[in-house]
Amino acid sequence: MDFNDASRTLPLHLPDWFDRIAAEYARMDAAYDAVAAHAGFTCSGCEDNCCRTRFRHHTLIEYAYLRQGLEGLAAGDRRRADADARRYQEALREAESQGASFRQWCPLNRDGRCILYAYRPMICRLHGLPHILHHPVRGLIRGTGCHVFEQAQRRVAPRPLDRSGIYQTLAGLEQTVRKATGFGAPVGMTIAEMILAMEGGIALGGRKRESIG
Ligand code: SF4
Repeated sequence: MDFNDASRTLPLHLPDWFDRIAAEYARMDAAYDAVAAHAGFTCSGCEDNCCRTRFRHHTLIEYAYLRQGLEGLAAGDRRRADADARRYQEALREAESQGASFRQWCPLNRDGRCILYAYRPMICRLHGLPHILHHPVRGLIRGTGCHVFEQAQRRVAPRPLDRSGIYQTLAGLEQTVRKATGFGAPVGMTIAEMILAMEGGIALGGRKRESIG
């Protein structure tokens, strides 16, 4: 089964999975808020908005949940998201073919705000804060915050966000979805690719397919 097949055959309403991913996202937001508050860090008004960073997202459950949000958009918003996603992908292909850096607004961002904020994937929720991860093979992994976080002067030493439990829970949920769908291949999609996957024509990792079906 390829991604287009998985996208077509995934039921649109998956209340059990969606309740679970929504609960996990709420835990992520709470964990983020606690670390950000401790450090006195806020993203609001950031000129170097991370919605201009090219992220790729790697779980089918996050794609399914974002698709649920896309389904609920008004027709005009959906058309604009589709058009912006096509422009984004064209610009990304061009940049990647030239080895150039890429900074472009995510097709779901309008005037600095996410139009599917409740459905945004994990990395949109966790980016920016320093973090640690207890990896089963590689041991303790540390990551820095975004450059705005790192450059700020603060009175207390920031503590890192521990992503270990977050990743474990999401991986467990992903396994459940993979088992139910029979879809085993890796996923690595930008938000633009997720939007375009709803229409067909995007394969894993955003490579355009020659034919669909
Ligand atoms: S999905 Fe939303 S939060 Fe994530 S990059 Fe796009 S606009 Fe920003």
